Amino acid sequence: MPPIYRSLRLMFYVLLIVAGTVLVTAAAMHHAERQTLADDAQRANQQLALYATSLHTLIERYRALPAVLALDPELRSALTGPVSPQQQDALNQKLEKINGAAQSSTLELLDRNGLAIAASNWRLPSSYVGHNYGFRPYFSQTRSQGTGRFYAVGVTSGIPGYFLSSAVLGDNNEFLGAMVVKLEFPELEREWRQGTDTLLVSDARGIVFIANQPGWRYRLLEALSPTDLAELKATRQYDKQTLVPLPHERLRRFDDNSYLVRVEGPDGPAQYLWESLPLSTEGWTLHLLRRPQVAFEDLRNAALAAAGVWLTLVFVLLFLSQRWRIAKLRQRSREELERLVEERTRELRTAQDGLVQSAKLAALGQMSAALAHEINQPLTAQRMQLATLRLLLDHGRVDDAYKALRPLDDMLTRMAALTGHLKTFARKSPSGLREPLDLAAVVDQAMHLLEVRLRDEQIHCTVDLVRPARVRGDAIRLEQVLINLLRNALDAMRDKPLKRLHIRLEADQQLWRLSVTDSGGGIDEQDLPNVFDPFFTTKPVGDGLGLGLAVSFAIIHELGGRLTAENHGDGARFTVTLPVDLEAQI
Ligand code: ADP
Repeated sequence: MPPIYRSLRLMFYVLLIVAGTVLVTAAAMHHAERQTLADDAQRANQQLALYATSLHTLIERYRALPAVLALDPELRSALTGPVSPQQQDALNQKLEKINGAAQSSTLELLDRNGLAIAASNWRLPSSYVGHNYGFRPYFSQTRSQGTGRFYAVGVTSGIPGYFLSSAVLGDNNEFLGAMVVKLEFPELEREWRQGTDTLLVSDARGIVFIANQPGWRYRLLEALSPTDLAELKATRQYDKQTLVPLPHERLRRFDDNSYLVRVEGPDGPAQYLWESLPLSTEGWTLHLLRRPQVAFEDLRNAALAAAGVWLTLVFVLLFLSQRWRIAKLRQRSREELERLVEERTRELRTAQDGLVQSAKLAALGQMSAALAHEINQPLTAQRMQLATLRLLLDHGRVDDAYKALRPLDDMLTRMAALTGHLKTFARKSPSGLREPLDLAAVVDQAMHLLEVRLRDEQIHCTVDLVRPARVRGDAIRLEQVLINLLRNALDAMRDKPLKRLHIRLEADQQLWRLSVTDSGGGIDEQDLPNVFDPFFTTKPVGDGLGLGLAVSFAIIHELGGRLTAENHGDGARFTVTLPVDLEAQI
């Protein structure tokens, strides 16, 4: 793969990991935020239920009060006829006393037209006495249904409150008037103001009428219809108060009564968790608004944890895939190597076989020349011998003739041996042949083949052989090695005045050590490492192929032995070591 693609791929992976980290962290933060908000909403909801209970309990405490008072005979009789100032004074004081005991805000008695004939606040300038409240819905509710309830801003006092009323009935169950208790919630609002949450109570039209924070009261949660506006005007429910919309937008829903909301509140725009709880008895809704508090640390921890898990996963995956790839590569290169080794071995074997064969052929050529020389001489000698023989027979010297036949016989035997040996020398012997042999006999045979040259060149030969020296191998090939060593020695000594050849065969533990030492001047130190290389020769062209030692080396190696060269004295020494044939030894 070109490097540009590799770096592109690397970049792609890095980008993928980075993008993955960003995504995972963002998702974890989002999830953590959602979870925290949902938990918060749940908590706020539980708190809201507590607030609702306290409001409910407060109202319930006063619900029976007007009904009980409506049964009072004094009050009832006051409504049946005209009330004298003394009677009214007594009524006012009575209501004032009961109001103090019950701890309600105001108590008032209305006649059948809605006119207040007595009230607990008669002493105050904002006294209800003498005012008509017939337009208030609780009055008409009481007249028609027996009871009424209504939250409104007091038209006289300007103080908002919850009016609970009960009908005062005559002996024949005719409507005489209404007993009304007004509840204000200053304490409740004060109590609710303790926390940081914003608490609102809205009526059925979505108008906030109780709030624990300034600026939230008389806000509209929904737009008012013209009918609503007309009714509000008629009942003067919120009287002179201006109703301002509270703009808000729902951002996220947790359930029907739980949202994340953006509110344009009195303190400016902000996000709130907005919990609502409908109060069915009153037809109101209680709201709790809480600023969401998602701690930065929580988000950061969630992000770090997610990034940690993600990166661990990525690195484990990378590590595994890398290991897998390395294992695959290793496997592939091992197979490749095995294949190469096999191939080379095969090639080498073929090359070696070829070398052995060509070296043999070269040797054969040389040998043919030697043979011609070797045979010519005996042939001339024999011809002369035969002439002598003929002369002796002509003279009837039969005994002398017999004597003259013996050298002829000897010569023929030697010639036969020579040709016989040559015949076997040229054949290609199967490699790896291992026959039991006597190495000393192989030396004899080689010496025999070179006998003429040894004699002609007047070589001083010393031969020390231990016999039998049992080895396993191929006689012809071993002979080839020896002839090669001997011929090299003779070549080296050709021009030397002193020609000494020392052949020694001895046992060395489990080995046979055969050395050929000459006095031919030795090998140049720098050539020593190369003499076993194929085609290394210092001989003139036509004289040497440079194959002899290479092939010899291979043959000895194949038989499990070693062939080494060194300089010794005034010449070279070649040493062949071969393992002892233990089977033959036993
Ligand atoms: P060749 O005889 O055809 O040159 P060899 O492989 O038999 O090939 O020998 C390689 C070379 O090793 C010879 O050319 C010669 O330089 C050197 N050499 C071998 N034997 C001897 C020796 N006995 N004395 C000196 N040099 C030798």
